[in-house]
Amino acid sequence: MGIYSTLTSIEGELHKCMKCGNCQAVCPIYKETRHEVGVARGKISLVEALLSGETEMTEGLSERFSLCTTCMACNANCPCGVRFDRIILAARAEAVRQKGLHSAKAIAFGALKRQGLFDLGLKVGSVFQGVALKRIPGRKSGSRLRFEVGMGQTKVFPNLAKRTLRSELPEIVRPAGTAKMRVAFFTGCMINYFYTDMGKAVVEVLIENSLEVVIPNGQGCCGIPASVNGDVESARVMAKRNLREFENMGADALVVACSSGGSAWKHVYAELLSDEPKWRALAEKWAEKSYDIAEFLVDRVPFKEEGLGRVERKVTYHDPCHLNRGQGIYAEPREMLKKIPGLELIEMKEPGRCCGMAGSFSLTHPELSDQILERKIQDIAQTHTDTVATGCPACRLQLASGVENADLQEDVVHIVQILAESYRAGKLEPRV
Ligand code: SF4
Ligand code: SF4
Repeated sequence: MGIYSTLTSIEGELHKCMKCGNCQAVCPIYKETRHEVGVARGKISLVEALLSGETEMTEGLSERFSLCTTCMACNANCPCGVRFDRIILAARAEAVRQKGLHSAKAIAFGALKRQGLFDLGLKVGSVFQGVALKRIPGRKSGSRLRFEVGMGQTKVFPNLAKRTLRSELPEIVRPAGTAKMRVAFFTGCMINYFYTDMGKAVVEVLIENSLEVVIPNGQGCCGIPASVNGDVESARVMAKRNLREFENMGADALVVACSSGGSAWKHVYAELLSDEPKWRALAEKWAEKSYDIAEFLVDRVPFKEEGLGRVERKVTYHDPCHLNRGQGIYAEPREMLKKIPGLELIEMKEPGRCCGMAGSFSLTHPELSDQILERKIQDIAQTHTDTVATGCPACRLQLASGVENADLQEDVVHIVQILAESYRAGKLEPRV
Protein backbone atom coordinates (compact mmCIF):
# COMPACT_ATOMS: atom_id res chain seq x y z
CA MET A 1 0.00 0.00 0.00
CA GLY A 2 1.35 3.44 -0.97
CA ILE A 3 1.66 6.69 0.95
CA TYR A 4 -1.77 7.85 -0.16
CA SER A 5 -3.48 4.72 1.19
CA THR A 6 -2.07 4.23 4.68
CA LEU A 7 -0.03 6.17 7.22
CA THR A 8 1.98 3.10 8.19
CA SER A 9 3.57 3.15 4.71
CA ILE A 10 5.91 5.96 5.83
CA GLU A 11 7.13 4.30 9.05
CA GLY A 12 10.49 3.61 7.38
CA GLU A 13 10.94 7.33 6.64
CA LEU A 14 10.07 8.22 10.24
CA HIS A 15 12.65 5.79 11.59
CA LYS A 16 15.40 7.44 9.54
CA CYS A 17 15.01 10.78 11.38
CA MET A 18 17.61 11.25 14.15
CA LYS A 19 16.06 14.60 15.25
CA CYS A 20 19.22 16.55 14.45
CA GLY A 21 17.30 19.70 13.49
CA ASN A 22 19.26 20.36 10.29
CA CYS A 23 15.93 20.95 8.58
CA GLN A 24 15.41 24.13 10.63
CA ALA A 25 18.12 25.97 8.70
CA VAL A 26 16.31 25.73 5.39
CA CYS A 27 12.60 25.58 6.22
CA PRO A 28 10.77 28.71 5.00
CA ILE A 29 7.97 28.16 7.52
CA TYR A 30 10.35 27.84 10.44
CA LYS A 31 12.25 30.95 9.31
CA GLU A 32 9.07 32.99 9.69
CA THR A 33 7.38 31.32 12.67
CA ARG A 34 10.32 29.99 14.74
CA HIS A 35 7.96 27.26 15.94
CA GLU A 36 9.11 23.66 16.02
CA VAL A 37 5.79 22.60 14.55
CA GLY A 38 6.65 24.52 11.40
CA VAL A 39 9.67 22.39 10.62
CA ALA A 40 9.96 18.79 9.38
CA ARG A 41 11.29 17.48 12.71
CA GLY A 42 8.29 18.83 14.63
CA LYS A 43 5.79 17.31 12.23
CA ILE A 44 7.65 14.01 12.23
CA SER A 45 7.24 13.89 16.01
CA LEU A 46 3.52 14.54 15.60
CA VAL A 47 3.13 11.72 13.08
CA GLU A 48 5.07 9.38 15.38
CA ALA A 49 2.76 10.29 18.27
CA LEU A 50 -0.21 9.62 16.03
CA LEU A 51 1.05 6.21 14.96
CA SER A 52 1.93 5.18 18.51
CA GLY A 53 -1.55 6.14 19.72
CA GLU A 54 -0.14 8.84 22.01
CA THR A 55 -2.33 11.38 20.28
CA GLU A 56 -5.39 11.38 18.05
CA MET A 57 -6.06 13.10 14.78
CA THR A 58 -7.79 16.39 15.62
CA GLU A 59 -8.66 19.53 13.65
CA GLY A 60 -5.68 21.18 15.36
CA LEU A 61 -3.29 18.47 14.24
CA SER A 62 -4.64 18.60 10.72
CA GLU A 63 -4.08 22.39 10.74
CA ARG A 64 -0.47 21.83 11.81
CA PHE A 65 0.07 19.47 8.89
CA SER A 66 -1.14 22.26 6.60
CA LEU A 67 1.83 24.40 7.74
CA CYS A 68 4.20 23.25 5.00
CA THR A 69 4.80 24.55 1.49
CA THR A 70 6.04 21.06 0.43
CA CYS A 71 9.15 22.82 -0.86
CA MET A 72 11.38 19.81 -0.13
CA ALA A 73 14.22 22.00 1.16
CA CYS A 74 14.31 19.79 4.27
CA ASN A 75 14.75 16.66 2.11
CA ALA A 76 17.78 18.24 0.45
CA ASN A 77 19.37 19.29 3.75
CA CYS A 78 18.72 16.09 5.68
CA PRO A 79 21.85 14.04 6.53
CA CYS A 80 19.70 10.92 6.96
CA GLY A 81 17.91 11.14 3.62
CA VAL A 82 14.44 11.52 5.16
CA ARG A 83 11.84 12.01 2.42
CA PHE A 84 9.69 14.45 4.35
CA ASP A 85 7.60 15.15 1.25
CA ARG A 86 6.28 11.57 1.52
CA ILE A 87 5.60 11.94 5.23
CA ILE A 88 3.58 15.14 4.91
CA LEU A 89 1.50 13.81 1.99
CA ALA A 90 0.70 10.63 3.90
CA ALA A 91 -0.20 12.64 7.03
CA ARG A 92 -2.54 14.91 5.10
CA ALA A 93 -4.24 11.96 3.42
CA GLU A 94 -4.72 10.38 6.86
CA ALA A 95 -6.18 13.64 8.20
CA VAL A 96 -8.79 13.67 5.43
CA ARG A 97 -9.59 9.97 5.95
CA GLN A 98 -10.23 10.63 9.64
CA LYS A 99 -11.60 14.18 9.77
CA GLY A 100 -12.92 14.77 6.25
CA LEU A 101 -12.09 17.59 3.86
CA HIS A 102 -12.73 21.29 4.53
CA SER A 103 -16.00 22.21 2.76
CA ALA A 104 -14.40 24.87 0.50
CA LYS A 105 -11.81 22.36 -0.69
CA ALA A 106 -14.47 19.69 -1.16
CA ILE A 107 -16.43 22.06 -3.44
CA ALA A 108 -13.31 23.09 -5.39
CA PHE A 109 -12.03 19.54 -5.97
CA GLY A 110 -15.54 18.30 -6.69
CA ALA A 111 -15.81 20.90 -9.47
CA LEU A 112 -12.36 20.02 -10.81
CA LYS A 113 -13.48 16.42 -11.20
CA ARG A 114 -16.28 17.58 -13.52
CA GLN A 115 -14.19 19.35 -16.12
CA GLY A 116 -17.16 20.57 -18.22
CA LEU A 117 -18.77 22.17 -15.20
CA PHE A 118 -15.48 23.70 -14.12
CA ASP A 119 -14.91 25.13 -17.61
CA LEU A 120 -18.40 26.63 -17.60
CA GLY A 121 -17.88 28.11 -14.13
CA LEU A 122 -14.65 29.79 -15.16
CA LYS A 123 -16.17 31.01 -18.44
CA VAL A 124 -18.88 32.76 -16.46
CA GLY A 125 -16.19 33.89 -14.00
CA SER A 126 -14.15 35.47 -16.79
CA VAL A 127 -17.14 37.69 -17.65
CA PHE A 128 -17.99 38.62 -14.05
CA GLN A 129 -14.51 38.62 -12.50
CA GLY A 130 -14.80 42.41 -12.02
CA VAL A 131 -17.42 41.83 -9.31
CA ALA A 132 -14.90 40.24 -6.98
CA LEU A 133 -11.65 41.58 -8.39
CA LYS A 134 -10.50 45.15 -8.92
CA ARG A 135 -8.04 45.78 -11.75
CA ILE A 136 -4.77 47.51 -10.89
CA PRO A 137 -4.80 50.94 -12.51
CA GLY A 138 -2.27 51.41 -15.31
CA ARG A 139 -1.60 47.66 -15.71
CA LYS A 140 -2.67 45.45 -18.61
CA SER A 141 -3.31 42.55 -16.29
CA GLY A 142 -3.56 41.86 -12.58
CA SER A 143 -6.30 42.44 -9.99
CA ARG A 144 -6.78 42.41 -6.25
CA LEU A 145 -9.76 41.11 -4.30
CA ARG A 146 -12.37 43.81 -3.64
CA PHE A 147 -13.48 42.16 -0.38
CA GLU A 148 -11.72 40.44 2.48
CA VAL A 149 -12.67 36.76 2.40
CA GLY A 150 -9.99 35.39 4.67
CA MET A 151 -7.27 35.38 1.99
CA GLY A 152 -5.98 38.91 2.58
CA GLN A 153 -6.26 41.60 -0.08
CA THR A 154 -2.62 42.08 -1.01
CA LYS A 155 -2.32 39.22 -3.49
CA VAL A 156 -2.33 40.27 -7.14
CA PHE A 157 -4.14 37.71 -9.29
CA PRO A 158 -3.83 37.34 -13.05
CA ASN A 159 -7.07 37.91 -14.94
CA LEU A 160 -9.00 34.92 -16.21
CA ALA A 161 -8.48 34.57 -19.95
CA LYS A 162 -11.53 35.39 -22.08
CA ARG A 163 -10.91 32.14 -23.95
CA THR A 164 -9.12 29.17 -22.47
CA LEU A 165 -5.96 27.98 -24.20
CA ARG A 166 -7.50 24.64 -25.11
CA SER A 167 -10.56 26.28 -26.68
CA GLU A 168 -8.32 28.63 -28.69
CA LEU A 169 -5.94 26.05 -30.11
CA PRO A 170 -6.74 23.03 -32.28
CA GLU A 171 -6.21 19.61 -30.74
CA ILE A 172 -3.38 18.90 -33.16
CA VAL A 173 -0.97 21.59 -34.37
CA ARG A 174 1.35 20.56 -37.20
CA PRO A 175 4.60 22.19 -38.29
CA ALA A 176 5.35 23.01 -41.93
CA GLY A 177 7.10 20.00 -43.47
CA THR A 178 7.73 16.66 -41.81
CA ALA A 179 7.41 16.50 -38.05
CA LYS A 180 10.34 15.04 -36.11
CA MET A 181 8.01 13.54 -33.54
CA ARG A 182 4.58 13.84 -31.95
CA VAL A 183 4.62 15.67 -28.62
CA ALA A 184 1.65 15.83 -26.27
CA PHE A 185 1.22 19.05 -24.29
CA PHE A 186 -0.30 18.84 -20.82
CA THR A 187 -1.39 22.42 -20.21
CA GLY A 188 -2.42 22.32 -16.54
CA CYS A 189 -5.09 24.66 -15.18
CA MET A 190 -3.12 27.87 -14.68
CA ILE A 191 -1.86 27.92 -18.24
CA ASN A 192 -5.25 26.93 -19.64
CA TYR A 193 -7.34 29.45 -17.71
CA PHE A 194 -4.98 32.32 -16.84
CA TYR A 195 -1.58 32.31 -18.52
CA THR A 196 -2.54 31.41 -22.08
CA ASP A 197 0.50 33.42 -23.27
CA MET A 198 2.72 30.75 -21.73
CA GLY A 199 0.84 27.93 -23.41
CA LYS A 200 1.03 29.65 -26.79
CA ALA A 201 4.78 30.12 -26.31
CA VAL A 202 5.17 26.38 -25.64
CA VAL A 203 3.34 25.50 -28.86
CA GLU A 204 5.22 28.18 -30.84
CA VAL A 205 8.60 26.85 -29.73
CA LEU A 206 7.68 23.20 -30.39
CA ILE A 207 6.41 24.05 -33.88
CA GLU A 208 9.55 26.12 -34.55
CA ASN A 209 11.50 22.94 -33.78
CA SER A 210 9.45 20.89 -36.29
CA LEU A 211 7.44 18.94 -33.74
CA GLU A 212 3.78 18.00 -34.04
CA VAL A 213 1.87 19.14 -30.96
CA VAL A 214 -1.12 17.27 -29.55
CA ILE A 215 -3.27 19.04 -26.95
CA PRO A 216 -6.02 16.61 -25.86
CA ASN A 217 -9.25 18.52 -25.22
CA GLY A 218 -10.37 16.06 -22.58
CA GLN A 219 -7.41 16.68 -20.25
CA GLY A 220 -8.06 18.39 -16.94
CA CYS A 221 -6.53 19.32 -13.62
CA CYS A 222 -3.31 17.42 -12.81
CA GLY A 223 -4.78 16.41 -9.44
CA ILE A 224 -1.90 17.82 -7.39
CA PRO A 225 -4.03 20.39 -5.50
CA ALA A 226 -6.25 17.49 -4.39
CA SER A 227 -3.40 15.08 -3.55
CA VAL A 228 -1.37 17.61 -1.50
CA ASN A 229 -4.52 18.47 0.45
CA GLY A 230 -5.18 14.82 1.21
CA ASP A 231 -8.17 14.34 -1.13
CA VAL A 232 -6.76 11.16 -2.59
CA GLU A 233 -9.99 9.93 -4.19
CA SER A 234 -10.43 13.13 -6.24
CA ALA A 235 -6.76 13.06 -7.23
CA ARG A 236 -7.16 9.47 -8.47
CA VAL A 237 -10.15 10.42 -10.61
CA MET A 238 -8.15 13.26 -12.18
CA ALA A 239 -5.06 11.12 -12.73
CA LYS A 240 -7.09 8.43 -14.50
CA ARG A 241 -8.86 10.96 -16.71
CA ASN A 242 -5.56 12.44 -17.88
CA LEU A 243 -3.95 9.05 -18.46
CA ARG A 244 -6.99 7.90 -20.46
CA GLU A 245 -7.09 11.04 -22.62
CA PHE A 246 -3.38 11.08 -23.44
CA GLU A 247 -3.29 7.34 -24.08
CA ASN A 248 -6.17 7.75 -26.54
CA MET A 249 -4.37 10.48 -28.48
CA GLY A 250 -0.93 8.82 -28.27
CA ALA A 251 2.41 10.63 -28.48
CA ASP A 252 6.16 9.96 -28.47
CA ALA A 253 6.68 12.32 -25.55
CA LEU A 254 4.69 14.52 -23.18
CA VAL A 255 5.75 18.03 -22.17
CA VAL A 256 4.64 20.14 -19.26
CA ALA A 257 5.47 23.78 -18.46
CA CYS A 258 4.27 23.62 -14.87
CA SER A 259 6.30 22.11 -12.04
CA SER A 260 3.31 20.52 -10.28
CA GLY A 261 2.01 19.03 -13.51
CA GLY A 262 5.46 17.62 -14.28
CA SER A 263 5.68 16.03 -10.83
CA ALA A 264 2.21 14.57 -11.32
CA TRP A 265 3.12 12.79 -14.55
CA LYS A 266 6.61 11.74 -13.50
CA HIS A 267 6.05 10.67 -9.90
CA VAL A 268 2.60 11.13 -8.40
CA TYR A 269 0.31 9.20 -10.76
CA ALA A 270 2.14 5.90 -10.32
CA GLU A 271 2.14 6.37 -6.54
CA LEU A 272 -1.53 7.38 -6.40
CA LEU A 273 -2.51 4.35 -8.46
CA SER A 274 -0.07 1.91 -6.90
CA ASP A 275 -2.86 -0.37 -5.69
CA GLU A 276 -4.34 -0.76 -9.19
CA PRO A 277 -1.82 -2.66 -11.36
CA LYS A 278 -3.36 -1.78 -14.75
CA TRP A 279 -3.46 1.94 -14.02
CA ARG A 280 -0.09 1.91 -12.35
CA ALA A 281 1.47 0.34 -15.47
CA LEU A 282 -0.10 3.04 -17.64
CA ALA A 283 1.12 5.77 -15.28
CA GLU A 284 4.65 4.32 -15.37
CA LYS A 285 4.58 4.18 -19.16
CA TRP A 286 3.72 7.90 -19.37
CA ALA A 287 6.13 8.83 -16.59
CA GLU A 288 8.94 7.46 -18.77
CA LYS A 289 8.18 9.87 -21.57
CA SER A 290 7.19 12.95 -19.56
CA TYR A 291 9.42 16.03 -19.61
CA ASP A 292 9.46 19.53 -18.29
CA ILE A 293 9.64 21.86 -21.30
CA ALA A 294 13.22 23.06 -20.51
CA GLU A 295 14.38 19.49 -19.92
CA PHE A 296 12.78 18.42 -23.21
CA LEU A 297 14.28 21.25 -25.25
CA VAL A 298 17.76 20.90 -23.78
CA ASP A 299 18.16 17.14 -23.14
CA ARG A 300 15.66 15.31 -25.37
CA VAL A 301 15.34 17.36 -28.59
CA PRO A 302 17.95 20.07 -28.35
CA PHE A 303 16.28 23.25 -29.54
CA LYS A 304 17.70 24.79 -32.67
CA GLU A 305 19.95 27.75 -32.07
CA GLU A 306 19.81 28.79 -35.69
CA GLY A 307 17.18 31.50 -36.01
CA LEU A 308 17.45 32.82 -32.45
CA GLY A 309 17.40 36.61 -32.39
CA ARG A 310 18.65 39.09 -29.80
CA VAL A 311 16.67 39.54 -26.63
CA GLU A 312 18.04 42.48 -24.68
CA ARG A 313 16.98 41.44 -21.21
CA LYS A 314 18.75 41.21 -17.88
CA VAL A 315 17.23 38.08 -16.41
CA THR A 316 17.29 36.43 -13.02
CA TYR A 317 15.91 32.90 -12.72
CA HIS A 318 13.80 31.57 -9.83
CA ASP A 319 13.88 27.77 -9.39
CA PRO A 320 10.42 26.32 -8.68
CA CYS A 321 10.73 23.86 -5.77
CA HIS A 322 8.99 21.03 -7.60
CA LEU A 323 11.16 21.48 -10.67
CA ASN A 324 14.51 21.93 -8.95
CA ARG A 325 14.31 19.60 -5.93
CA GLY A 326 11.27 17.67 -7.17
CA GLN A 327 12.57 16.79 -10.62
CA GLY A 328 16.28 17.67 -10.47
CA ILE A 329 15.92 20.32 -13.17
CA TYR A 330 18.32 23.11 -12.35
CA ALA A 331 20.86 23.29 -15.16
CA GLU A 332 18.52 23.07 -18.16
CA PRO A 333 16.68 26.40 -17.76
CA ARG A 334 20.01 28.18 -17.31
CA GLU A 335 21.50 26.46 -20.36
CA MET A 336 18.50 27.59 -22.35
CA LEU A 337 18.75 31.19 -21.19
CA LYS A 338 22.52 31.36 -21.79
CA LYS A 339 22.06 30.41 -25.44
CA ILE A 340 19.78 33.36 -26.16
CA PRO A 341 21.75 36.15 -27.85
CA GLY A 342 21.77 39.47 -26.02
CA LEU A 343 20.41 38.02 -22.77
CA GLU A 344 22.34 38.49 -19.55
CA LEU A 345 21.66 35.99 -16.76
CA ILE A 346 22.27 37.36 -13.26
CA GLU A 347 21.76 34.88 -10.43
CA MET A 348 19.91 35.99 -7.33
CA LYS A 349 20.93 34.93 -3.82
CA GLU A 350 19.37 31.50 -3.16
CA PRO A 351 17.41 31.09 -6.41
CA GLY A 352 16.08 27.77 -5.08
CA ARG A 353 14.42 29.20 -2.00
CA CYS A 354 10.66 28.73 -1.95
CA CYS A 355 8.59 31.74 -3.08
CA GLY A 356 5.75 30.87 -0.68
CA MET A 357 3.11 30.06 -3.30
CA ALA A 358 2.60 26.30 -2.81
CA GLY A 359 -0.85 26.30 -4.45
CA SER A 360 -3.67 26.61 -1.96
CA PHE A 361 -1.15 27.30 0.85
CA SER A 362 -0.95 30.92 -0.34
CA LEU A 363 -4.73 31.22 0.02
CA THR A 364 -5.11 29.43 3.35
CA HIS A 365 -2.02 31.02 4.95
CA PRO A 366 -1.83 34.39 3.14
CA GLU A 367 0.27 36.23 5.72
CA LEU A 368 2.88 33.50 5.99
CA SER A 369 2.96 33.17 2.22
CA ASP A 370 3.55 36.93 1.89
CA GLN A 371 6.34 36.88 4.47
CA ILE A 372 8.14 34.10 2.61
CA LEU A 373 7.62 35.97 -0.67
CA GLU A 374 9.04 39.18 0.76
CA ARG A 375 12.48 37.57 1.25
CA LYS A 376 12.43 36.33 -2.34
CA ILE A 377 11.47 39.76 -3.66
CA GLN A 378 14.33 41.37 -1.71
CA ASP A 379 16.74 38.94 -3.38
CA ILE A 380 15.27 39.75 -6.79
CA ALA A 381 15.56 43.50 -6.18
CA GLN A 382 19.26 43.11 -5.45
CA THR A 383 19.93 41.66 -8.91
CA HIS A 384 18.92 44.92 -10.65
CA THR A 385 17.49 42.93 -13.52
CA ASP A 386 14.47 43.79 -15.66
CA THR A 387 13.04 40.26 -15.93
CA VAL A 388 12.34 37.41 -13.54
CA ALA A 389 12.09 34.11 -15.37
CA THR A 390 10.80 30.92 -13.85
CA GLY A 391 9.56 27.50 -14.93
CA CYS A 392 6.11 27.34 -13.37
CA PRO A 393 2.89 29.36 -13.71
CA ALA A 394 2.17 29.19 -9.97
CA CYS A 395 5.57 30.73 -9.15
CA ARG A 396 4.92 33.30 -11.87
CA LEU A 397 1.69 34.31 -10.13
CA GLN A 398 3.36 34.62 -6.75
CA LEU A 399 6.42 36.47 -8.04
CA ALA A 400 4.31 38.83 -10.16
CA SER A 401 2.24 39.65 -7.10
CA GLY A 402 5.36 40.36 -5.02
CA VAL A 403 6.96 42.43 -7.76
CA GLU A 404 3.79 44.51 -8.15
CA ASN A 405 3.44 45.09 -4.41
CA ALA A 406 7.10 46.07 -4.11
CA ASP A 407 6.73 48.40 -7.09
CA LEU A 408 9.64 46.76 -8.93
CA GLN A 409 9.89 47.26 -12.68
CA GLU A 410 10.31 43.59 -13.61
CA ASP A 411 8.60 41.44 -16.19
CA VAL A 412 7.74 38.05 -14.70
CA VAL A 413 7.64 35.33 -17.35
CA HIS A 414 8.17 31.63 -18.02
CA ILE A 415 11.52 30.90 -19.71
CA VAL A 416 9.77 29.40 -22.73
CA GLN A 417 8.25 32.82 -23.41
CA ILE A 418 11.75 34.27 -23.70
CA LEU A 419 12.78 31.50 -26.09
CA ALA A 420 9.70 32.19 -28.23
CA GLU A 421 10.55 35.91 -28.15
CA SER A 422 14.04 35.11 -29.38
CA TYR A 423 12.75 33.06 -32.33
CA ARG A 424 10.39 35.93 -33.20
CA ALA A 425 13.25 38.44 -32.99
CA GLY A 426 15.34 36.19 -35.23
CA LYS A 427 12.73 36.39 -37.98
CA LEU A 428 12.93 40.18 -37.95
CA GLU A 429 16.72 40.40 -38.03
CA PRO A 430 18.38 40.91 -41.43
CA ARG A 431 20.03 37.75 -42.78
CA VAL A 432 23.80 37.90 -43.36
S1 SF4 B 1 17.28 17.08 9.08
FE1 SF4 B 1 16.41 15.05 8.69
S2 SF4 B 1 17.16 13.75 10.36
FE2 SF4 B 1 17.48 15.89 10.99
S3 SF4 B 1 15.61 16.39 12.15
FE3 SF4 B 1 15.25 17.07 10.05
S4 SF4 B 1 14.23 15.34 9.08
FE4 SF4 B 1 15.15 14.54 10.99
S1 SF4 C 1 8.88 20.85 2.87
FE1 SF4 C 1 9.64 22.97 3.09
S2 SF4 C 1 8.07 24.01 4.29
FE2 SF4 C 1 7.70 21.82 4.56
S3 SF4 C 1 8.81 21.27 6.44
FE3 SF4 C 1 10.22 20.90 4.70
S4 SF4 C 1 11.40 22.78 4.46
FE4 SF4 C 1 9.60 23.25 5.76
